[in-house]
Amino acid sequence: MFNNFKTKSKKSSLIVCLLLLLNGSIFLQASNCCFCDFQEIGRQIIHETDQATTFYCLQPANKGHLLVIPKRHVEHFKDLTPGELVSIQGEINILADIFEKLYGTPDFFIIQKNGKKAGQTIPHLHFHVITSPDSIHTTMHHAINYRDTLADAELTERVDEIKEYLRQK
Ligand SMILES: [Zn+2]
Repeated sequence: MFNNFKTKSKKSSLIVCLLLLLNGSIFLQASNCCFCDFQEIGRQIIHETDQATTFYCLQPANKGHLLVIPKRHVEHFKDLTPGELVSIQGEINILADIFEKLYGTPDFFIIQKNGKKAGQTIPHLHFHVITSPDSIHTTMHHAINYRDTLADAELTERVDEIKEYLRQK
């Protein structure tokens, strides 16, 4: 895919971006962005379209915590195209189904931060989509405070469980 074209040099402080023409769409990628790097998030991905990717959070607030991103590297919500928004909505709807049918928790919330002062730590727009199996206060407490990184085996197990569910749909 287009990740193969990415410039790997991380010595330069310059962000090197590539404009790539793929399937009629222009994709912009940042060379030092972990969300643009398939090697970073590839094993976490549970579903993707031409314009959006959904992957399991490495430090989940609870079992149902995934991230949805546009494939194009943009930082802010205002930078999304209408087509990307539609793709992202489709991914979130898939998650809503997974949460309800696979996890038995139809309630969830979405967090999307814009800018450092809003708490955005990775400058690639992302939506946290998180189940709320208990009260919103309990879930928010887990979401905001420090969370442990999942062990590799557990991450693989959770990702495989979701992918198997999607395969059987
Ligand atoms: Zn990026």
